[in-house]
Amino acid sequence: MNNTIQYTVDSDGIATLLIDIPGKSMNVLSDKIVLELSACIDKVAADDDVKGAVIASGKAAFIAGADLTELVTAYARGVTPEQGYQWSATLSGVFRKMETCGKPFAVAINGLALGGGFELCLACHYRVLADNPKAVLGLPEVSIGLLPGAGGTQRLPRLVGTEKALPVILQGKKLKPKQALEMGVVHEIAPADELLQRAKDWLLGNPDPVAPWDAKGFRMPGGAGANTPKTAQTFMVGTSLLAATTQHNYPAPIAAISAVYEGCITPLDTGLDIESQYFGQLVSGVVARNMMRSLFVNKGAADKLARRPAGIEKSRVRKLGILGAGMMGAGIAYVSARAGMQVVLLDTDMEAAERGKAYSEGLLNKAVKRGYSTQDKAQALLDLIRPTTAYEDLEGCELVIEAVFESREIKADVTAKTEAVIPANAIFASNTSTLPITGLAQASKRPASFIGLHFFSPVDKMPLVELIVGEKSSDEAIARGLDYIQQIRKTPIVVNDSPGFYTSRVFATSTNEGLTMLAEGVNPALIENAAKMAGLPVGPLAVMDEVTLELGYKITMQAAADEGDGYVFASGFGVIRKFVEELDRRGKRFGKGFYDYPEGEKKHLWPGLAELYPPAEQQPPTQEVIDRLLYRQALETARCFEDGVLDHPADADIGSIFGWGFPPWTGGTLSFIDTVGIQHFVSECDRMAEAYGPRFEVSDWLRERAGRDEAFYQT
Ligand code: NAD
Repeated sequence: MNNTIQYTVDSDGIATLLIDIPGKSMNVLSDKIVLELSACIDKVAADDDVKGAVIASGKAAFIAGADLTELVTAYARGVTPEQGYQWSATLSGVFRKMETCGKPFAVAINGLALGGGFELCLACHYRVLADNPKAVLGLPEVSIGLLPGAGGTQRLPRLVGTEKALPVILQGKKLKPKQALEMGVVHEIAPADELLQRAKDWLLGNPDPVAPWDAKGFRMPGGAGANTPKTAQTFMVGTSLLAATTQHNYPAPIAAISAVYEGCITPLDTGLDIESQYFGQLVSGVVARNMMRSLFVNKGAADKLARRPAGIEKSRVRKLGILGAGMMGAGIAYVSARAGMQVVLLDTDMEAAERGKAYSEGLLNKAVKRGYSTQDKAQALLDLIRPTTAYEDLEGCELVIEAVFESREIKADVTAKTEAVIPANAIFASNTSTLPITGLAQASKRPASFIGLHFFSPVDKMPLVELIVGEKSSDEAIARGLDYIQQIRKTPIVVNDSPGFYTSRVFATSTNEGLTMLAEGVNPALIENAAKMAGLPVGPLAVMDEVTLELGYKITMQAAADEGDGYVFASGFGVIRKFVEELDRRGKRFGKGFYDYPEGEKKHLWPGLAELYPPAEQQPPTQEVIDRLLYRQALETARCFEDGVLDHPADADIGSIFGWGFPPWTGGTLSFIDTVGIQHFVSECDRMAEAYGPRFEVSDWLRERAGRDEAFYQT
């Protein structure tokens, strides 16, 4: 029975295929909808009374893309390249049938059309797009490890030429209505309420049911293949740029550009077949599995608050208090006001509080200048932030986030002062980066309402918030903390209390490994470049400079003082100590660290490094440096899992990718172990423990797990 596509025919003999999946806010292309579409096309083709058809959507958007959950579920059963090929070829075949059935098809694109949704439009003979800024067109498949598998790599280049098509296919460049029209991707743009009529007008005029590439004498705009100098150059430059940006960690962009190159020098049907073959290879590969699972399925579930304790009423923060208007407090104020909350921004003196508010002003001025916001909207947002030094102003706050100096005493003091004025049922959250939440909660009269909300810097850009559950934190506090994270449109992970929690603890192992290698005589340029080749955003020495060596120094000295004689310094701490205590090279903010920052020039590694840590004559292979960096982080994550800091592999993966940029091709720190295979992982750690030290030692728990060959994900 048809229930996702409503099929009607009007008195002019024009059929309308209205796609409207019941019970969903968005249309997505599922197997079911494709079957129904196929049946509708047959009906149009077979009915002599039907002159042509319009495809339209019953939702606010057109079609968001293919149903990835269906694809990922299919992966759970272990997709072979042949099955992946078949999946793509089936969808592509239905679109091709529509394109060649002899009847004209127009599409009324009322809103967003991505992936398979956009590919469906490309297979129609006429495209009318709503004049609506939300009506963007795009092919984002590469961002989750796939390629457009329903004709996107074939029809778009044939329509607009390779040069214009590649950024859409390879970089996920989205097209707004005006751009789409200028590029020739759509035939016209029209007000939303006129779309259907315009499409029908075309069908009733003199419609051509033959796609340009099926017409006799068709030539690719700008030429195809290696025989046209300009196109040949596009491919040469394109492939080298891809190699440089992906470092060969991501197969999808290379497969996509290959599909364009090989497919566009053949007739369309062969091109579609080539595309499906590449699709089959990608979808059955481990990188696509990792990316779809972590970036789409698990992130989607986290955004929908998969970890929210059940049975607690949904909450909304209307008034938020922030203690400390420094770098973090100011950023938290901005993202909260942006979500419509009233924000009280408290500091010890008014000047500091005002400075915190001015941070938002700076960001908003930039947004207005670039046309992302208007003066009125910016002012309305600024009006929501109230700088103060008076605790009474916190009255009525449903949530207070503390972001004062990293000192137990100061944090205890502001906790007590705040609790004296906020409502009894308010939640108190600390943004500490290192101090265990359970300890900080001792300063609270209501430890059940005390949680950690660990933001990342810069707050307005970083998508993650790590919610830390203290020993006494209640389910209600967790639920309300998660509701707030959703309100400010960030992605949450939930972790249990422990020094460094999850993200800081694991991230520190990566920088420490870099410093340890430096001290061992590994060439610093090799360390930095190997990190980038692994897919990390920057090398460990550059990262250390960014967060400042001083911070690393202070955190370690505090931990050492807290723990006393038993404290074991990390293997690379000697380097930090030397740089801070002896050399006064404390990091980028101080003008010098592992790098020099000459004014007006690019930063470069400090030449003095070579004297301090002379590079060994025999340098390790690049892959060994990469492995040390990645294995060390993955191993520490496994320990967090074993210790109960993490309850779910998804939190580990999402936290690592969105918190500190662990390479997305791996799927995240725990997916990385599954990717290399747990048994191989353990034997490599054993080898590294022998070669580099006990920080690579594997626990009995992990070894036993490897003995059972038990992956972190069962699918
Ligand atoms: P910061 O030094 O930029 O700001 C701290 C602010 O707190 C200052 O404006 C200071 O005047 C104010 N303050 C100090 N004592 C106060 C008091 N008694 N009452 C009210 N205000 C007071 O520091 P930051 O980088 O914003 O860090 C704040 C907290 O966030 C720390 O706990 C830090 O560990 C944590 N954190 C920092 C980062 C980061 O990248 N900087 C990331 C995550 C978490």
